[in-house]
Amino acid sequence: MPRVYNFSAGPAMLPESVLRQAQEELLDWQGSGMCVAEMSHRGKEFMAIAAAAEADLRELLQIPANYKVLFLQGGASMQFAMVPMNLLRGGAAADYLNTGSWSKKAIAEARRFGSVNVAATTEDTRFNRAPIQAELKLNGDAAYVHYTPNETIEGVEFPYVPDAGGKPLVADMSSTLLSRPVDIQRFGLIYAGAQKNIGPAGLTIVIVREDLIGQPLTGTPTMLDYQTYADNESMYNTPPTYAWYLAGLVFQWLKGLGGLDAMAVINARKAQHLYAAIDASGFYTNPVSPESRSWMNVPFTLPSPDLDDAFIKGAKAAGLTTLKGHRSVGGMRASIYNAMPEAGVQALVAFMQEFERKHG
Ligand SMILES: *Cc1c(COP(=O)(O)O)cnc(C)c1O
Repeated sequence: MPRVYNFSAGPAMLPESVLRQAQEELLDWQGSGMCVAEMSHRGKEFMAIAAAAEADLRELLQIPANYKVLFLQGGASMQFAMVPMNLLRGGAAADYLNTGSWSKKAIAEARRFGSVNVAATTEDTRFNRAPIQAELKLNGDAAYVHYTPNETIEGVEFPYVPDAGGKPLVADMSSTLLSRPVDIQRFGLIYAGAQKNIGPAGLTIVIVREDLIGQPLTGTPTMLDYQTYADNESMYNTPPTYAWYLAGLVFQWLKGLGGLDAMAVINARKAQHLYAAIDASGFYTNPVSPESRSWMNVPFTLPSPDLDDAFIKGAKAAGLTTLKGHRSVGGMRASIYNAMPEAGVQALVAFMQEFERKHG
């Protein structure tokens, strides 16, 4: 079976060259006689793999020296709790922007630890756009401002970085980190589950400004305190070693491509190609305001849900998989992360046009 173009929202495609390198190194990593998954996390081989991955990520994102890069488990969902536990820092309140399904979950979890001010919401228009800066009603007492730059389910992406009024800005970048350059200094903390755009599931990356670490809520468990990871090079306990290694290979792949500036050009082209095909069709519809459309997750509907099964079946036969939309939104969703080749998007557009000719 040839490899398919997999449009899954996550876990998602990995670059083929990364998988091939992992395959080559599977039984014997660089003369060690071991698979990386068999290595002690405290041995010199794995320590070198871990350090190289961090250095490459720092280079790709130009992460300043006063930020820590932490490699954790627990997914972005665990960060929904760790962020308030560590960043409320004696404050009682935080500002959250409510822009889709993942923000809602982050808000619900934060409410367990403090009071949440919803500084903006687009729920009244079914999360079809990002709010503009002038809509944000920030609370002077907030300990931090949290938002979701790319809402993976609704396909809504902020076209700008909000001004948090001097408060630490916290971003759930699970489905957008590494898709384009970001100015890390605008943020207090960035987190991302790896399985969308970074590597395999099981690894979560946190980039946090040092001064925000070290004042967790009383009773915070050791494993939920950022300090534990910062003080121990993310090796207080056994880290997800194999996922860390694969993420490192992805970072090298990105560097080889020319870094995030080069990746952004490719991603913009992929997204434009797909949105242009949707808008030109009169058959497919994307509900998101053009300025807030995601580069990574493209939901679209057909004229009738009755056509969905035929679309999914036909796409699968053409080697295009996992296009079914999220159960809360319906229709289709094409996730086109970094590892989705341009040829995959071209193949999808060609299939969509043919499907429209037959059914339109
Ligand atoms: C997938 C996703 C999550 C949940 O990630 P887990 O790693 O499964 O906890 C949270 N936020 C965003 C934006 C996501 O895309």
